[in-house]
Amino acid sequence: MLRGGERAYAAGVSIASPIVPDRDIRLDNRFASELPELGVAWKAQEPVEARLLAVDEDVAAEVGLDPAWLRTGDGVRLLLGVDVPAGATPVAQAYSGHQFGRYSPRLGDGRALLLGELTGADGRLLDLHLKGSGRTPFARGGDGLAAVGPMLREYVVSRAMAALGIPTTRALAVVATGRAVRRETLLPGAVLARVAASHLRVGSFQYARSIDDTELLRRLADHAIARHHPTAAGEAEPYAALLRGVVEAQASLIAKWMLVGFVHGVMNTDNMTISGETIDYGPCAFLDVYDPATVYSSIDEGGRYAFGNQPVVAQWNLARLAEAMLPLLHEDEQQAVTVAQDLLDGFRVAFAAAWSAGLRAKLGRAGDEQADPLGDELLTLLQTGRVDLTSGFRALAHAARGDTAPARRLFSGADGFEAWLTRWLALAPDADAMDRVNPLYIPRNHLVEEALAAATGGDLGPLHELVAAVSAPYEPRPGRERYAAPAPEDFGTYRTFCGT
Ligand code: AMP
Ligand code: MG
Repeated sequence: MLRGGERAYAAGVSIASPIVPDRDIRLDNRFASELPELGVAWKAQEPVEARLLAVDEDVAAEVGLDPAWLRTGDGVRLLLGVDVPAGATPVAQAYSGHQFGRYSPRLGDGRALLLGELTGADGRLLDLHLKGSGRTPFARGGDGLAAVGPMLREYVVSRAMAALGIPTTRALAVVATGRAVRRETLLPGAVLARVAASHLRVGSFQYARSIDDTELLRRLADHAIARHHPTAAGEAEPYAALLRGVVEAQASLIAKWMLVGFVHGVMNTDNMTISGETIDYGPCAFLDVYDPATVYSSIDEGGRYAFGNQPVVAQWNLARLAEAMLPLLHEDEQQAVTVAQDLLDGFRVAFAAAWSAGLRAKLGRAGDEQADPLGDELLTLLQTGRVDLTSGFRALAHAARGDTAPARRLFSGADGFEAWLTRWLALAPDADAMDRVNPLYIPRNHLVEEALAAATGGDLGPLHELVAAVSAPYEPRPGRERYAAPAPEDFGTYRTFCGT
């Protein structure tokens, strides 16, 4: 067990002598060496029979990995974490977290490993991280494994998010392990390899604070500043500037989620990054019909992480970050609280600005404040008319070009739509600009389910088709009509599962 001040490596397990892949791949161990208290050196589990299911060549290129090499036996062994370059120090990270509001002082990577850091095309460090790589000292009752379905869900949804311009961790590859994973039924196991700006979370700061080690907390904050908010280093109050940076990054991120109807589903503080990237695609899903009360996750019984609650929850999580950072904000606790409160108040302002700017753009009136009341009214119309969010905005662009029939059809259940349409059209919305921000292809729930079920049964065709559709979300392509269509009537109430 990790305790305050204890160097985790001292008690950690030494990894077997690493085998150097036959390429010049360098994995830094910046996190492991700068923050040893926040990791336990660990080794990934050997597969039974490895099979590469998917590799994202764009992500590979961004981190200087040759996709053809990744497909070789050696490449796959790197993707599974069983062979790592010399000098790499894979670690399971320690962190705390509020899960559905309840604090767990010690969560950590129960089934994940940070293999080390790669260097991106722009020279920035990027984590190479695995999920489903076997039990770690943080596994508690868990088996340390992941199933093919949930790992491919992260693969396709994170790819879609990136294509939508939403900050996210990126899936590099999914490798089936040949190991059966016991959930409700026996499922094929897999490891997801992902690349991220880092895996520092709100929960990382909570952990450092909970072991009451202010020196560690400061080192963690310095590490976060160097990697994510480097301009904070030059400010008079670098830690306040870091907190401000995280608040602003998260406000912008959540606004982007809300504008496309993304429901994360499990916004625990261990699943909220310091970088401002979306992380940990568990029970996530996209809205079909617009309704702020929408909850997909089967375990979110109280609706804490309902679509419309996400901004409030994000601010709540950031308050937990601010609490953890109090010793860095001012030596006098009361004054530290005042500083923190001030910075947290910035969330609402930054979120409102990002949201309004985004909604104006979706309405083809970028930068026009006059569009704001129309935006608010449209949300009511979408909700009362039970209109599919994604199709609704695309139909409005058709209306802006003169063809109002699709919009009239979709909004037929929304009282007051005609009057709204007349007022909005009078502003001369820019239809082409709308089509550049309102996606046509998103990972619709029924398509994701179809693709994952097929993949679990061994057929990767539907998954690759779906990935191809959501990778270019704005441009209509012939033959892809079904990827733009709302769920069929008989799809019913959608439920998602964490897959843990
Ligand atoms: P999540 O909400 O999926 O991000 O996970 C919450 C916590 O549970 C993290 O500490 C995970 O590492 C851990 N966890 C989830 N699933 C498993 C599993 N199958 N085996 C071990 N630990 C797990
Ligand atoms: Mg998590």
